[in-house]
Amino acid sequence: VKVLILGSGVIGVTSAYYLSKLGHDVTVIDRQPGPGLETSFANAGEISPGYASPWAAPGVAFKALKWMWRDHSPLIIQPRIDFAVALWLARFLRNCSKDRYDINKRRMLGLSAYSQTCLASLRSEAGIRYDERMLGTLQVFRRQSDFDGIGKDVEILKAVGVPFEVLNRAECVRCEPALGFASAELAGGLRLPGDETGDCLKFTIALAAQAKALGVKFIYNANIERICAAGDAIERVIVDGGEVCADTVVVCMGSYSPLLVQKIGLKLPVYPIKGYSLTIPIENAQGAPESTLMDDAYKVAITRLGDRIRVGGMAELCGFDRSLPLARRRTLEHSVQSLFPRGGDPRKGEFWAGFRPMTPDGTPIIGETRFRNLYLNTGHGTLGWTMACGSASILADIISGRKPALDASEYALARHVR
Ligand SMILES: Cc1cc2nc3c(=O)[nH]c(=O)nc-3n(C[C@H](O)[C@H](O)[C@H](O)COP(=O)(O)OP(=O)(O)OC[C@H]3O[C@@H](n4cnc5c(N)ncnc54)[C@H](O)[C@@H]3O)c2cc1C
Repeated sequence: VKVLILGSGVIGVTSAYYLSKLGHDVTVIDRQPGPGLETSFANAGEISPGYASPWAAPGVAFKALKWMWRDHSPLIIQPRIDFAVALWLARFLRNCSKDRYDINKRRMLGLSAYSQTCLASLRSEAGIRYDERMLGTLQVFRRQSDFDGIGKDVEILKAVGVPFEVLNRAECVRCEPALGFASAELAGGLRLPGDETGDCLKFTIALAAQAKALGVKFIYNANIERICAAGDAIERVIVDGGEVCADTVVVCMGSYSPLLVQKIGLKLPVYPIKGYSLTIPIENAQGAPESTLMDDAYKVAITRLGDRIRVGGMAELCGFDRSLPLARRRTLEHSVQSLFPRGGDPRKGEFWAGFRPMTPDGTPIIGETRFRNLYLNTGHGTLGWTMACGSASILADIISGRKPALDASEYALARHVR
């Protein structure tokens, strides 16, 4: 089948690879000059099935109100709320009930765990390298009261069978020796040894090269303007004023996916949640993290990627505003400086922002639409890198008429349609 993939982020490229492996004739189109240059460019690097959890959780609205008044808040909501964000927030709040949370968490965990298995096979099959490390995630708690409150998280980890270790300060330092230089108080930590780390951009570039070798065509610097439907099928895609046709079209345009498909009457509950990262060259390896550390106080992840430290986090609701406010950079600098003061100079860091394509239930949208040849693989929000290989494998199975490893109805757009 001739498949056209719209978008060459980590989701579009993994989709192209898996579809090509199943024998399809695949073309990928993107407005950027290469793969992975938008949200997949500088994320926090965590492949974290252990922490796969929806943000919509019981009690989160109250927590969010408290965070918003703090210095270095992990959540920023711009006062000019428009209709799209208000609608998305209403749906998000509907997903905060215990029942919805349990369903959404199970879906995210299932997909993340499957994705980790797919990534492991892909790594050995394609032999690609991406500054990968398999040393787990350590969530550190600065305040004793926060550390004392981890009981609920521990219960959930036990219930879903994710291995974990509860560590005191000395044990945290044994795991991450550079924490011995930290100026911040540390009450303790929660370690998930099964998590991994890696550079999503390096992975996406390397996999795109493998896909190209399999015969996938990549068209870059090309703006996708419109898709045109006739009856129940997509007839053509308008790219830079010209027409491109295919048997099957897959939308993998991250946060921009809803803007494209709304013109043919499809409503995707995907909203851009802006996040920031700072990538700092390591000057002293003994002062840098070994793996990924989650700074619970600021909800910031600090990751070792080869000879760099990546600090990433925060959630800002501001539409597609691309600005890079100094205050957000200061939050990232503050977190890394107080935990890893000797690793590198944050002032030399490269500051970046991306838009997480976020659904209100935290789970991506994979599979069919009411157009018989239009498919979606989008809405991966906070964990697109973690879930990429599994999502692409499920999509490729659906398009090829094979039974996916997971129940595809759990990830379908239909769950959002009343
Ligand atoms: C600060 C931050 C930290 C994160 N940390 C992690 C993490 O630690 N672990 C994790 O698993 N996930 C993390 N994520 C989430 C993850 O990065 C995303 O879920 C993932 O990158 C989404 O990939 P995507 O391919 O859907 O989107 P994108 O990478 O944005 O790809 C979409 C592509 O579509 C193209 N496109 C859009 N519109 C058009 C158009 N009109 N014409 C042509 N092309 C178009 C874009 O150019 C782009 O290449 C983080 C995100 C952020 C912002």
